[in-house]
Amino acid sequence: MEVPSISIVAPIYNEETTIPEFYRRVREVMQSIGDSWELILVDDGSQDGSSERIRELARQDHHVRRVIFARNFGHQIAVTAGLDYARGQAVIIMDSDLQDPPETIPDLVQKWREGYEVVYAVREKREGESWFKLFTASIFYRLIYRITDVTIPMDVGDFRLMDRTVVDVINHMREKHRFLRGMAAWVGFRQVGVTYQRAARFAGETKYPLKKMLKFASDAVTSFSYFPLQMATYLGFISAGISILAIPVVVVLRLAGSQAFYGQATTLLAVLFLGGVQLISLGILGEYIGRLYDEAKGRPLYIVREEPEDVINET
Ligand code: UDP
Ligand code: MG
Repeated sequence: MEVPSISIVAPIYNEETTIPEFYRRVREVMQSIGDSWELILVDDGSQDGSSERIRELARQDHHVRRVIFARNFGHQIAVTAGLDYARGQAVIIMDSDLQDPPETIPDLVQKWREGYEVVYAVREKREGESWFKLFTASIFYRLIYRITDVTIPMDVGDFRLMDRTVVDVINHMREKHRFLRGMAAWVGFRQVGVTYQRAARFAGETKYPLKKMLKFASDAVTSFSYFPLQMATYLGFISAGISILAIPVVVVLRLAGSQAFYGQATTLLAVLFLGGVQLISLGILGEYIGRLYDEAKGRPLYIVREEPEDVINET
């Protein structure tokens, strides 16, 4: 079978009303581009008629390939499965609820042709989302930006195009808690953003309630930073530091005959000091656990773009 040049990966969870329209718009856009393509629809354990819709499409159109999960594994895992099955030279990840408009695909492909290996779509405007969603999303992006070690571009979701080389690297990163946009930023290569208008959902409602969003945020933070583990150390130093500063103050005041610190001051200082020491020790444990965690993730140590034997082509 012929290998397509562009793969589109779309995770689906209970989107039966949207699927036909999503497929129609993707097909229209892909036909206008003219490249060979495939659309990988990953059914993430939908309970409505989505699986049936997907099967129908796969029967009717050989461009459509289906992956149907045995249960709901979550958006990031569904996308991961899509990346595993994708065969294209470029792979585009997009939501199937039409919030990521298929009409942006030509812009992504255009940048890819210019030589970028990752082209991510930057949200310029968001329609039809509650202020709560916008507010939490904005805090989320800013937090991630601050405390993680990789520079994850702001206002960027998973809607993006990745070159085959990048997809191969990500497919080798089998960590269980996945934060794909962080992973894609981590691998490097030439990356560029393209702006687009985030549309309102075509139908249905968000499958990311607050609980899932919190889990997602915690995956994002813990996959790319030790910050939470290091918190203990900071607190410990603060607590121990205060007590160390306070000891001479209390001693001097007591010697000067002040009644204010009689008795409990010593106990308080001892507790504060020991608490601090304990927190620091916890923090040290945390550092080692963080290292174990890094080893367990089994990420590649480095990612090579060009090897000595590669022919050098001036661009
Ligand atoms: N999705 C999924 N599994 C889930 C939740 C969502 O595959 O457990 C899909 C969903 O069908 C959609 C995309 O992931 O195509 C984004 O989900 P949603 O639109 O609910 O999130 P939001 O855009 O509100 O952040
Ligand atoms: Mg959505």
